[in-house]
Amino acid sequence: MTACVIHGAKELKIENRSEPRPQEGEVLVRFGAGGICGSDLHYYHEGRVGDFAVREPMVLGHEVAGEVVELGPNVTTIQAGQRVAVNPTKACRQCNYCLSGRSNLCRNVRFFGSAARFPHVQGAFAEFFTASQLQCVPIPESLSYRVAACAEPFAVTLHAVARGGNLLGRRVLVTGSGPIGVLVVAAARLAGAAQIVVTDLFDEPLAIAERMGASRVVNVKATSSELETFTRDGGWFDVAIEVSGNARALENCIDATRPGGRIVQVGLLPAGNSGTPVNKVTAKELKLVGTFRFHEEFQWAVDALVAGRIDVGPILSGEFSFSEAVSAFELASDRRKAMKVSLVA
Ligand SMILES: [Zn+2]
Ligand SMILES: [Zn+2]
Repeated sequence: MTACVIHGAKELKIENRSEPRPQEGEVLVRFGAGGICGSDLHYYHEGRVGDFAVREPMVLGHEVAGEVVELGPNVTTIQAGQRVAVNPTKACRQCNYCLSGRSNLCRNVRFFGSAARFPHVQGAFAEFFTASQLQCVPIPESLSYRVAACAEPFAVTLHAVARGGNLLGRRVLVTGSGPIGVLVVAAARLAGAAQIVVTDLFDEPLAIAERMGASRVVNVKATSSELETFTRDGGWFDVAIEVSGNARALENCIDATRPGGRIVQVGLLPAGNSGTPVNKVTAKELKLVGTFRFHEEFQWAVDALVAGRIDVGPILSGEFSFSEAVSAFELASDRRKAMKVSLVA
């Protein structure tokens, strides 16, 4: 079978690999579609994501949907022929975090296409891959694989918004207008936010943020002064959601969030000391909280996509076959031309 394998920076190869066999409680999934994520792009360009370097060939991909074609022993919840969105998280389901509904914090989690552990957990950009039956969420014929594959990034944003507390009637700042940023906009709207302002350095992704429901967009490269109006009297926003992973953007969040407000850090800042002005967090009694992946939100994300409560149409940028994967990764890297690029079977 064909698989998209990363060997190191700029070394993405389309290879022939042997088909995996479903083990106890697992199913074999035929790849339907998959979205290229920012972390896939980091592996592609730098051979690493933050502290996690590629140390052996690894199949990329964790935003996927497909068809179950074979069942391993003792599979009871999924049938062959079922179309599914696949949760890339395989948590241990035994530790205190898992048992208390925070499997995203599990210390023994195995996440598709991640070099965080060694041997690496292989990803799902392959014609066939295996998954636990518990990772598979059935989807109807009406939901395309391409849209179903957006359940994973949307789940990330539903969790991020949940970490922001009650957003009903609130003013929300979103820094960073990539795929996660614009999905945060959609999630914040679902949560009842009254005002959603989005910042970025490029106009093209900001235009998509508007289509996803932003009340206002600000290009901070072109007009840095526009943001200053939001910093008067200690800050205008109740909640800021920092998606870009840029230390300067986090500083903007600290300045533009009202005293007593909350900042949710989604983006991963570069390793090392970011120089974040923590004294302002202290003096304004801001709550600075992290958010990491998702737990029950994966099911919510699938439900919202099936019910049409979110339209991901504006973020879908192009589809490529596995043999064109390098072109797909190059396009996905161009923030002015692409948002969410898909690989399709
Ligand atoms: Zn992702
Ligand atoms: Zn666990």
